[in-house]
Amino acid sequence: MPRYWTEGEGRRVGVAGLGKSGRAAARLLAGKGFTVIGYDDNPAVEPCECCSENYIGGGGFEALPTLEGIVLSPGIGPSAPIPAAAAAAGLPVIGEIELAFRNTQVPILAVTGSNGKTTTAEWTGFILRKAGLRAVVAGNVGYPFTAAVLDHPSLDWFVLEVSSYQLETIDKFRPAGAAVLNLTPDHLQRHGNMEGYRNAKARIFMNQHSEDLAILNADDPESAPLLGLARGIEGLFSLSRSVETGAFLEDGQIIQAWGGERTALLPASGISIPGLHNVANALASICLAARTGIPGSAMLEGLKTFPGVAHRIERIRSLGGVEWVNDSKSTNQDSLRVALESFGARVILIAGGLSKGTDYGSLRALVAEKVRHLVLIGSAAEELAEAWEGAAPVTRAGDLARAVGVCRELAGPGDTVLLSPACASFDQYRNFEERGDHFRRLVEELS
Ligand code: ADP
Repeated sequence: MPRYWTEGEGRRVGVAGLGKSGRAAARLLAGKGFTVIGYDDNPAVEPCECCSENYIGGGGFEALPTLEGIVLSPGIGPSAPIPAAAAAAGLPVIGEIELAFRNTQVPILAVTGSNGKTTTAEWTGFILRKAGLRAVVAGNVGYPFTAAVLDHPSLDWFVLEVSSYQLETIDKFRPAGAAVLNLTPDHLQRHGNMEGYRNAKARIFMNQHSEDLAILNADDPESAPLLGLARGIEGLFSLSRSVETGAFLEDGQIIQAWGGERTALLPASGISIPGLHNVANALASICLAARTGIPGSAMLEGLKTFPGVAHRIERIRSLGGVEWVNDSKSTNQDSLRVALESFGARVILIAGGLSKGTDYGSLRALVAEKVRHLVLIGSAAEELAEAWEGAAPVTRAGDLARAVGVCRELAGPGDTVLLSPACASFDQYRNFEERGDHFRRLVEELS
């Protein structure tokens, strides 16, 4: 029933989860003439002003039989009470991404994967804008898709970052171009096993048509089971081999393979942000941007001038020959690995926070190679000290303020002080942005 989520005519629908995405969904629904009932388990949440009834702190399930459907926020897992109660009441359940999709005509490029989603989505949007297209980046980047749909009724392209959680609750969502960047076991808790996680990500392709583009990472063994399954055109990116359709690295050159032709676009050293992982992100962005019809030559400016995204290997300042770099977004061992691989062997590493409980020991050799001093913070400090024992001298600093002080003392010209925690931030901060902003302030105050 296509009109169902697009024309309210007073129909009663629920929104579960009244965070940023849920509130944006409620605003869209109320604007379309729906009567919106809001649910949130957290008693500290403010009632949503676009909802005509709010059930805050639990309860309100007796109203479910009066509703025609529920929109789930991405933070609500399938095991939370409300999806089960909605299913028991026979209600259709969709996610915020699906709701937004049904309410826009603008074509979509979508990015998912374990690492690099925000960078690739932002970079793709940047490339399109530099090429003269009207493009807006939304979704998991912190700008809910429903809010973007309301704010931008006319546009050339949306570029979306979507998480595997958000993909669980799509139904007809159909991106014209979609990429699964890579699959690593970081998010397994919710999906059970690797296959469940891979299948959740692959839903990004499930409604594509033959003219749509499905992009995969040819270097990633965990993505390999998805090869050859796309209903649309399959595009590949690779740092290690040539591909027929997509983009790849060969002899240090970034090559676009599109429409049967190969075009050398620029040397990998010509892109604006460091690290081989960012070359991979550039290749994925080139694949996505190609779907809009712009030629590779029109992508060059965006590839050469993208400033990067805050908190992701972000250079803060150079002081007395020491580079200070904020990679607060690094919340797992994979992102620490790529960060260390982006620098030479003179890193003073600040790591720690709330442990992800993964195999930190597997990074020991890389830590030994690149890190000349380890400064550990947060509740994971002992676990990391043990995992990397003997790899580098260790200082236990406790918190970031002390860690910055220790690094200031230790660092000399040619060193890089890198905050790349490999851990969540919740033991000391509300989120990684707050942690990174704190680090930035501390570093800017140094003299
Ligand atoms: P996401 O949105 O998927 O979390 P980000 O672009 O925000 O990804 O980057 C998160 C972290 O992952 C950063 O610390 C960055 O260093 C690392 N990273 C970025 N791109 C890649 C990639 N292609 N492969 C592995 N790690 C990456």
